[in-house]
Parts: sequence; structure tokens; C-alpha cells
Amino acid sequence: MITSEVADRVYRLGHAFVNCYVVEDDGRVLVVDTGLPAMWPLLAEALRERGLRPGDVAAIVLTHAHFDHTGFAARAQARLDVPIWAHVDDFGLAEHPYRYAHENPRAFYPVRHPRALRILGAMAFAGALRVPGVRGLRPLPSGGALLVPGQPVVVPTPGHTAGHCALHLPDRDVVLSGDALVTLDPYTGVRGPQIVAGAATADSAQALESLAALAATGAGTVLPGHGDPWTRGVATAVEQAREVGAH
Ligand SMILES: [Zn+2]
Ligand SMILES: [Zn+2]
Repeated sequence: MITSEVADRVYRLGHAFVNCYVVEDDGRVLVVDTGLPAMWPLLAEALRERGLRPGDVAAIVLTHAHFDHTGFAARAQARLDVPIWAHVDDFGLAEHPYRYAHENPRAFYPVRHPRALRILGAMAFAGALRVPGVRGLRPLPSGGALLVPGQPVVVPTPGHTAGHCALHLPDRDVVLSGDALVTLDPYTGVRGPQIVAGAATADSAQALESLAALAATGAGTVLPGHGDPWTRGVATAVEQAREVGAH
């Protein structure tokens, strides 16, 4: 199995330290984030092993438009002909994947964090350096449920990027936190609940403030963009991320 069921009918597809998720709802599918380019063939395999087909995908939502979450978005748009939703403040980033804002010079990090070299190397091998831009996205509403499979509630969580949004599935007791809260920081190799390092975060202070919105969901399980699922409640994850703070 290349997927694991990490919440009620929510499947994790992880590759090269990046996660995307398949949310199944009565035979229809929502894909949350589009990983790295090498994950495109894995999506078809993931669907197959869950008894689903590419034609069952009804929508894609991007938590944010960093290149490690938009890897197969353009391809999926062309091949599956499905709407792709993202926050309007990330549209520019989606079109130009390598022009993103971050606080600290990225090149500095692997020197301080040699553990990150293996992770960033795996991401590069999975196509992180050749992600095409994607246009024609639909703007996510800032709050309220989206009428796509799973009916996720959009939880704006800006900071990591200007338009970052988490998705809350209240009836499944799960929040898909994207990179607003991760359990593995690819830029340092450190595990545990935290915001992503300043190497890839636009505004760390704002990212820390946005943790309150995640905590407010009260979800039992947190499914991050990087790292393993957190099943001890979003409140404890947020508490630990605040302790780690900006880094
Ligand atoms: Zn990111
Ligand atoms: Zn990421």
C-alpha cells in the first residue's frame, strides 16, 4: 500500500517527505495539495488501491502555492479537468513557483542543519526544481464550507504564505494543516509540531498568530504537509509549536 488511512476515509500519500491527501466522500474525491511532480503517477496508484479512479476526482484544493504542494497541479488540471482552489493571495505564487517570500536565506540552512540535506535532496529528486506554474485557479472563500467532497471548512492561516489556508473536516474530527503546522520541518530535519523555519516562511510572527485558528477547530487529528499525522489533538500540537516558536 502506498497510502495509509489517517482519518475516516482520508488517505495520506507521502513521498520525498511531502504529503498530499485523498478525501473520499461517497465515491467522489477531493485531493488536498499536489505534492511534487513525481507524485502524479502515485496519485493514480493511490486511487486504484482504494478502489477509486482518476475520474472520481471532483476537486483539488491547495493549502498554499509553494512548489512542493503544486507539483502536479498543472498536470491534474489538464488531464482531469477539475477545478483547483487556492486562496487568491497565493495565485501569483502558483504562477511563479520560485518567486516566493521568505525571511532567511535558504542556502544558509543546510549548513546549520545537515539533516535537512537528505530531505531537500529527496525533494529535488522528486522534481522540486522543475515545477511548472499553474493558472486558472478558483479563489477559496475565507471561511465557510466548500462544496466539494468532504465539505471542508476553510480556515485561513496566513503567515507561511500570504494566502495559506487549512481545511477542517468537522464530521471526521480532522484538520489538514498544510504548512501552517508541520510535524517535520524539511528545512531543518527536526520532527515534532512546529511552524516551518524562516527559510520558507513569509512571516513567522503571523504564522504563530494563525495557530489560534487551527486550535479553534478542536480537531483530534492534524494532518500536516510534512511529517506524520498528529493524533493527540490540535491543542497540544499548537502548544508545542508555540513553545518551539520562530526558528
Ligand atoms: Zn510551504
Ligand atoms: Zn511544504
